Amino acid sequence: VLRMESVRKTFGGSVVLRDVDLEVAPHTVTALIGASGSGKSTLLRCAGLLEDVDDGAIWLDGEEITDPRADRDAVRRRIGVVFQAYNLFPHMTVLENITLAPRRVHRVPRARAEQQARELLERLGLGARAGEYPDRLSGGQQQRAAIARALAVRPRLLLLDEITAALDPELVGEVLDVVRDLKGDGMTMLLATHEMGFAREVADQVCFLDSGAVLERGTAEQVFGDPRQDRTRRFLRRIV
Ligand code: ATP
Ligand code: MG
Repeated sequence: VLRMESVRKTFGGSVVLRDVDLEVAPHTVTALIGASGSGKSTLLRCAGLLEDVDDGAIWLDGEEITDPRADRDAVRRRIGVVFQAYNLFPHMTVLENITLAPRRVHRVPRARAEQQARELLERLGLGARAGEYPDRLSGGQQQRAAIARALAVRPRLLLLDEITAALDPELVGEVLDVVRDLKGDGMTMLLATHEMGFAREVADQVCFLDSGAVLERGTAEQVFGDPRQDRTRRFLRRIV
């Protein structure tokens, strides 16, 4: 689904991504792990075309999306993105949040968009919350609604950036359950996380980023169970 080749990104002279190669196969989950500042969010933002790369190329379904001639808005519509926090528009109900992009961008008629949104909410355990404003929901419910909003446009790829990091510990589980569920449905996902236990369980591929470079990658079992690099080992020892 997604392929990055020699992606390089700098911010004001400092290199944030160094020659990153990455492949995310259809219906698989890839977890990005690494210390704060290692470049996980930047990598996700580049993949979602929320940030321009300085060098290298990115393909989505075989189309080079970093090609200057690519239709960037059309590409963005095929990628769902959920961040750590502040994902929902506060002045809109949950239902309005979810139907916004399908109606405005994809021109889905209101009744159909609402029907699909209600089905999504039902599935994410928020069936009764459609008419609420975000500030009436718990953090976990808000994040689930944000995932529903990202799913509403039926994306090819879901990018999830530390979606549980801002949550109280008791609310983390319900959001991770949704990710498990989506994996069961075959959704392709690239996520950044500090939840190592979760990454180990859910990820098909784990990439350890160190100062903007993919220092190690492999199956969850390999990277967590038998890391090849000293730095990976040290990172994991520190965090768990
Ligand atoms: P965390 O685990 O804390 O979320 P991260 O791995 O997601 O960290 P990034 O947010 O990708 O790391 O940041 C990587 C580096 O890029 C950091 O040194 C950061 O300061 C820098 N950086 C990120 N965004 C910008 C920006 N818009 N302008 C300048 N520097 C930036
Ligand atoms: Mg980050």
